[in-house]
Amino acid sequence: SKTPGSYSRVMLKISGEALMGDQGYGLHPPTVARIAQEVKSVHDMGVEICMVIGGGNIFRGLQGSAQGMERATADYMGMLATVMNALAMQAAMEALKIHTRVISAIRMDEVAEPYIRRRAVRHLEKKRVCIFAAGTGNPYFTTDTAATLRANEMNCEAIFKGTKVDGVYDKDPKKFADAKRYDNVSYDEVLQKHLGVMDASAIALARDNDLPIIVFSLDEPGGFRGILAGTGTYTRVHC
Ligand code: UDP
Repeated sequence: SKTPGSYSRVMLKISGEALMGDQGYGLHPPTVARIAQEVKSVHDMGVEICMVIGGGNIFRGLQGSAQGMERATADYMGMLATVMNALAMQAAMEALKIHTRVISAIRMDEVAEPYIRRRAVRHLEKKRVCIFAAGTGNPYFTTDTAATLRANEMNCEAIFKGTKVDGVYDKDPKKFADAKRYDNVSYDEVLQKHLGVMDASAIALARDNDLPIIVFSLDEPGGFRGILAGTGTYTRVHC
């Protein structure tokens, strides 16, 4: 399988919280702009880019169901939150003159394209960044699963999961000074030890299709580009 320096098509998964900066909620435009710049620097290398953005900075299904709302309804609200984030990211990328398409798993034709697999592949071939919104379109799933699903459908060579830390640790590195980072870890070990890379259904879907997950820090300026150029610190989750 490929080494990070040789990827030509990748999926970038970021959580909604990555867009909120130091605020406790919502979108922080300078942070969105900074991430757009990170994506541009990889786009400039000629790499084809898919993106999935979560919605946790606005709404999570579990939050709604904890307040007595039916889970499916709350999940649809969460999916709509991801559409807002996708539009914010599209605006930030277009300000940098990058062509993008927001492609929604839930039809809303005035706002975003519907998901048509072959059309999305064509966008990638034309070097448009595809931002996949509304998750999988189904309640009871997460945007991690959506990222894995779309990465498989688009034949991405890996999922890049941008987080606050530079990889997968055996315990929380922000709480434990002796936490150890893995360079490589298997899907099964992630599942068995509950290492918190992505949720279990997403990990299993990646494992069953042999899709590597590269966990890296989105806070590190130039980090995303660095890994694609073959340098930097990250954990590679694979077989
Ligand atoms: N969601 C869903 N189906 C999907 C993707 C997302 O129902 O395929 C809902 C779910 O309620 C979730 C919310 O959208 O809590 C936001 O997504 P997620 O929690 O994955 O966002 P993140 O944690 O990455 O910000």
